Amino acid sequence: MNWQDKLNKEGLRLTTPRRVVISVLEAAGVPLSPQTIHQRSLDADEEIGLVSVYRTLEMLTDLGLVRRVHGHEACLGYVLASPGHHHHLVCRSCSTAVEFSGMDDLSTLIDHIQEETGFLVDEHMLQFSGLCPQCRKRTPHHDQD
Ligand SMILES: [Zn+2]
Ligand SMILES: [Zn+2]
Repeated sequence: MNWQDKLNKEGLRLTTPRRVVISVLEAAGVPLSPQTIHQRSLDADEEIGLVSVYRTLEMLTDLGLVRRVHGHEACLGYVLASPGHHHHLVCRSCSTAVEFSGMDDLSTLIDHIQEETGFLVDEHMLQFSGLCPQCRKRTPHHDQD
């Protein structure tokens, strides 16, 4: 299911702010702050306010179409997400964000956490960072230095 189907399914129209925020994130492929998203929409001659960028991001995040991730330098950014259980990998060198399917391989860890803390765990945020294939090619190995 893509984001258009998801919006349709929720009975939501593709308003200008939604269309603009989604297309800016789609074009970027890296986590962007609300300010950057706003700036890029102005660069594309789209008249949307910063407040409406924030509101749209919040709404798309609730729908699971956008995910908040930690960037390497910018501490928080937003990336486009596919509906369903996914996690993001963010390259610490070029900030490229890649999604991969979530698996239920956390259940052993969650069992352990619940046993130790008495919490009922019903949600998690998991993100990986590292070097993407392009940056691995560009960066020589310093591990043995
Ligand atoms: Zn990279
Ligand atoms: Zn997960």
